[in-house]
Amino acid sequence: MKTYVVALDVGGTAMKGGLVTSSGEVLLSDRRATPRSEGPARVVEAIREFIDDLAAAGDGPPAGVGVAVPGLVTADAALYAANIGWKDVPAAEFTTLDVPVRLGHDVRTGGLAESVVGAGRSERDFLFLSIGTGIAGAIIVGGTPYGGSAGWGGEIGHIPVLPEGERCACGQIGCLETYASAASVARRYAERTSRTASTRPPASREVTPATAEDVVSLAMTGDRDAAAVWDEALEALSLALASYTLLLDPSSIVLGGGLSEAGPALFDPLAERLQEKLTWRTAPPLRPAALGTSAGMLGAALLGLQAAGFPDPGATWKLDVLRPAPVP
Ligand SMILES: [Zn+2]
Repeated sequence: MKTYVVALDVGGTAMKGGLVTSSGEVLLSDRRATPRSEGPARVVEAIREFIDDLAAAGDGPPAGVGVAVPGLVTADAALYAANIGWKDVPAAEFTTLDVPVRLGHDVRTGGLAESVVGAGRSERDFLFLSIGTGIAGAIIVGGTPYGGSAGWGGEIGHIPVLPEGERCACGQIGCLETYASAASVARRYAERTSRTASTRPPASREVTPATAEDVVSLAMTGDRDAAAVWDEALEALSLALASYTLLLDPSSIVLGGGLSEAGPALFDPLAERLQEKLTWRTAPPLRPAALGTSAGMLGAALLGLQAAGFPDPGATWKLDVLRPAPVP
């Protein structure tokens, strides 16, 4: 019988779960929708059901449970999440199983996995930056994700980068996320082209691309509107990363999230701009995340193993066994 934990990564739209052994073997992985529209109590119930169902597929009871959740969170409670709506949910509420449970912040948990077994495994001090629908970071200091005094640490997406800029959904002005998240790149291109399209003859109007990836591709092939939007996103990112570098002197910056898959179109110009801004010191290298969309779930497994009392979980894990069967 293999010792395993149940690991769950709860996002605003989907939950990724799995059974992971103490040696890092992913025995099973699965994915379910997060029933956010049915209210926070139903989301907690759905998490409980998912954990129960995963554990039922295991060989005997799990040693522990780890759950990565969004918002403000401690190891013992999910305090607040704007996108789910829950408030002060104790960790024990998330499972009916009589085993130790540990919670973690979603991005910091992904950063933990990148730190222990992923792109940062040989580093002690780095930034894991997730650029997806939003932008968030995990500040890894001394090998440990740093959450700050109250759990709000790492909210790099809301660093103001443009004093006279656009208002962010958070209420502040000119946040990084307003310019450089995947959602913002797509939105800003749509807004810009709807303005320029009205000054062109109807025949030259093009269908607005739906995604940030489309905008990046268009920028690479010389579309002026796309290039302008992408240029602003890169400028905002390099400003925020220059500030981060000056404050914390990371050995590298690991980029994850959907937009990081833009590859050289992101990494090359961003590295160049970051170095331009840091005139007197060497910029830290930018590196792609290694664990992709599994980072949160694997980090949750590490939390479950910590809760179960395993010393130094992940130390012996090999990256090749961490690639679970593709989550359906
Ligand atoms: Zn903001």
